[in-house]
Order: sequence, then structure tokens, then C-alpha cells
Amino acid sequence: MSNGDRHVVIGAGPAGLTAAWELTRRGCDVMVLEADDTYVGGLSRTQVYRGNRFDLGGHRFYTKSPRIAELWRELLPDDLLQVPRISRIHYRGTYFPYPIDLGITLRRLGLRSSAAVSASYLRAIARPRRPEASFEDWIVNRFGRRLFDTFFKTYTEKVWGMPCSEISKDWAAQRIRGLSFSSAVREVIGHRRDDDGPKTLISSFTYPRLGPGQLWEQVRDAVLANGGEVVHGTRVVRLHRGPTGVTEVETHDGNRYPADHVYSTMPLRDLAGVLEPSAPATVREAGTALGFRDFLTVAVVVDHPAVFPDTWIYVHDPNVSVARIQNYRNWSADMVQDPTTTCLGMEYFCNRGDDLWEMDDSDLLRLAASELDALGLVDAERCIDGQVIRVPDAYPVYDHDYERHRLTIRRWLDESVPNLHPIGRGGLHNYNSQDHAMMTALLAVENVLDGADHDPWAVNTEEEYAETSSGRPGAGARLVPQRLMR
Ligand SMILES: Cc1cc2nc3c(=O)[nH]c(=O)nc-3n(C[C@H](O)[C@H](O)[C@H](O)COP(=O)(O)OP(=O)(O)OC[C@H]3O[C@@H](n4cnc5c(N)ncnc54)[C@H](O)[C@@H]3O)c2cc1C
Repeated sequence: MSNGDRHVVIGAGPAGLTAAWELTRRGCDVMVLEADDTYVGGLSRTQVYRGNRFDLGGHRFYTKSPRIAELWRELLPDDLLQVPRISRIHYRGTYFPYPIDLGITLRRLGLRSSAAVSASYLRAIARPRRPEASFEDWIVNRFGRRLFDTFFKTYTEKVWGMPCSEISKDWAAQRIRGLSFSSAVREVIGHRRDDDGPKTLISSFTYPRLGPGQLWEQVRDAVLANGGEVVHGTRVVRLHRGPTGVTEVETHDGNRYPADHVYSTMPLRDLAGVLEPSAPATVREAGTALGFRDFLTVAVVVDHPAVFPDTWIYVHDPNVSVARIQNYRNWSADMVQDPTTTCLGMEYFCNRGDDLWEMDDSDLLRLAASELDALGLVDAERCIDGQVIRVPDAYPVYDHDYERHRLTIRRWLDESVPNLHPIGRGGLHNYNSQDHAMMTALLAVENVLDGADHDPWAVNTEEEYAETSSGRPGAGARLVPQRLMR
């Protein structure tokens, strides 16, 4: 089926490997260039530390696309687990259900706090904030200041690194739909449900037995078996172009790879700056204006087999910096090397260059252990080992102008570099999950090989991921906030 065209793929994450897999399956000549020395899977890789496996941030497999679900089954027929999901909010030593269930929450808060929460709600109803512009305004108007401070403010600010007063109310409106204070109070007063035991086992999710990296290693092996090449430790730094598009892809070591088609999963921000001759100043400026939130994971090995029953915990406590704690042993028992131990992932959201990002690994390990201790989850001395992974460009930021910048870059690429196909999460600056990233790759390949007219940029722009069993997005659902324009 190959017509002699050379297809170069930048990045061996989900999007790049899916493109490579589809291309090699259809007989094409494919070269994948990956910056990482060791791993495939990009943000969805599974790191291995002394036999313990952990994700950069827990990666559930969920998709609304039957095509992607079928593909996962085809690639890992025997190793896809169905994992019971237990996730709770940890706030000042008490567990609350996640997604938030106000009825249970009011009961767990006890009489005095519930009364204070109710008074704060009544004050908000009597004197609502006007105009209602920010995430904070929206929540306080509907739930009162006390609940806002307890369940919405800290976690949101940890994740996004900006005050809730600067986040647009649209995000709250999408995110908190279906929760109502008055119906919660009616529920508490009217019929008391049994409130014992973990109430947050709301669903299950799919997960590879050895973590998401298992899937991506499998896809890499399939690409190699089909005759494709995957080169590690090679960062693309320049794309040489002629009148009809990219002609050669240059890597940091000076190697040049001739190309007829290029699929790029490198951040769109970077892509706009690596073309030679360079893109117009407006396009390069649009690239540099695209922002990311960075992230780091401290993997902590604990010398105890049963630390807590949750797959992960949201940490709303303002006295610690950690935002989420994954317990990989509860995702799959095979993630842990020694069955008498546990492997936790302490997740910190940060920006490159800030205090957390710059902290020494040994200090971060100490911080993680001390925060586990302070939260009452694990005694610090039981944290026996660990590793720090810094993850740049983890979350594409959707500020007020990002759509305009994306469009500027896209229009110019379409016109001037038509054989360059941005795909994936950073590649399209889209808040994509693995399934979206894969879909953008499949669509781009069909555009090239079949002359189809798909729009990979539109994947994941219309649908919304409802993560809860009730169909409403819970706190932390995969939507992104916009910075408020004042
Ligand atoms: C904390 C966190 C939790 C998540 N949870 C989930 C989840 O539960 N479920 C889910 O489905 N998704 C989840 N995601 C999203 C998922 O990780 C991404 O959607 C997916 O990995 C995107 O794939 P990609 O190939 O587009 O990009 P990436 O995974 O970013 O891969 C890009 C690859 O390109 C390489 N690269 C970049 N620049 C260059 C260059 N110049 N030269 C060569 N190589 C380069 C990188 O090294 C990387 O390997 C999560 C993401 C994060 C950060």
C-alpha cells in the first residue's frame, strides 16, 4: 500500500503512536521521533521505579467512542481490568463523598458546622453578589461562603494556580450542574439515608493491568513489527519547509529526516517557533501566548499493604500543597513490586520555575512524607522510598485568548504548510484525554491516506465528559476554567 511517501511522527505519546500504528498497518513508511530516552506513552506513560509502577497522574480509560473502545480491547485483550472506583474528598481529617453529595456532606459536618453552613447559605440568598462574574461569585451565590471555602476554593486554586475570583463563572456553571443546596437540606430533613461506610463507590473504570504504559508499549511493539521505526532521545528542533510544506525534520543532534507528511504532537506553542524559514511574527507570537500548567508527581513507597481503600483522594485541606493522592495498588495489584508495600502518587500542580518545581527531589520526598503524616494517612517513617517526576506542559491553559491564538496558527499552517498535521493534546492545545488524542491521530491519517475531510481540531470541543454515574460532572471533571476578563 506504500506509495513511497515518508511519514514522520513527532512524539511517541498516545496520538503519535496511534498515527504510527494506523500508518504502518496500512503499509506506510513511518519514523517516530521521541524526545524521551526510555518511555513511550508521553503523559500517559507508566514509570517504573525499583519494580513499582505509577502513572504521572492516574489514567482511567474511558471513552464515548466505540471505535476507540474496540481498539483498546483489540490491543490488550487479556489485560484490561475493571477497577471499582473509590474516590473521596479529604478535608481537615474527615472524608466526604466525591462527587460532592451535599446531603451526606451536611450530615458529616455535624450539627454546629451544618448550622453555620446553612446560615452562610441564607446570607448569600438574601444578599447575592452582583454582578455574578467569577467562579467564586457563582458558587457563593448558590451554596454560601462556608461551603465555597470548604469544598470548592482550595482544590480549584491548587489545580489551576489562580484565585477563584479570577476564574470565569462559566466553568462553575458547567461543573456543578445538578447540585442544589435546598434539595440537599430537604434530603437531610426528609429521609435519612444510611450514611455508613464508603458511599463513594460510584462506578468502575477500565485500566490496564500494568498501567497505561502497558498499552503504549504494546502499540510501539506493533509499530515496530509492522516495519516502522521509533527513535528515542531525539528532540525535534526544526522543520525545514519548501513551497509545498515540510521537507525535512531536524533533531537536536543535527540529524535530518526527509518527510512527505509530518504528524506533530509537540506542543503547538513550540511548533509555531520551529519552522524554517520561520513562520510570520503573528504566528510565532500566537504560539508563545499559549500557556500550560505544569505538574509534578512524587511517587512514595510505603511499607504497608493497606494504606487507604480509595483509588485516589482529593485533598481539600489548605494546610498542605498536595492536591490528589493516588493509590496505585488499588488500581491494580500488579503495580506494586512487593505485596507488603504500597505505591502512592502525590500530585502537585505547579508552574515551571515556582518554589515547588524548583525544590530538590530529596526535599520533595520529605514534603510528601510529611504531608501524608499531617493528613493522618501514613506515618512519615513508613515512607521508605520514592521518586519525583516533573511533568512540564501537563495542562493546556484555556485563557480568554487561546482560541484566537490557536486559530491564527491553524490558518497559517493550513495555507502554508499543508503537509504538517498537528494532533493530540499539546499538539492541538486541546484539553484532550487519551481517547481524544487517539481520535485526532486516526482522523489525520484518514485525511492523508484517504483524502478525507475530517477536522481533528474539533475533537473534544463539543462533548463534555460527565464522570459521575449520575451523569452530572463532579468537582474536578475534565473541563477547564477560563480566566475572567475584568
Ligand atoms: C495528571 C494527568 C492526568 C490525566 N488523566 C487522564 C485520564 O484519567 N484518562 C485519560 O484518558 N487521559 C488522561 N490524561 C490525558 C492524557 O495524558 C493525554 O490526553 C495524552 O497523553 C495525550 O497524548 P498526546 O500523544 O497527544 O500527547 P503526550 O502524551 O503529551 O505525548 C507527546 C509526546 O511527544 C514528545 N515530544 C514533545 N515534544 C517533542 C519534540 N520536540 N521532539 C520529539 N518528541 C517530542 C513527548 O516527549 C511525549 O512523549 C491526563 C493527563 C494528565 C497530565
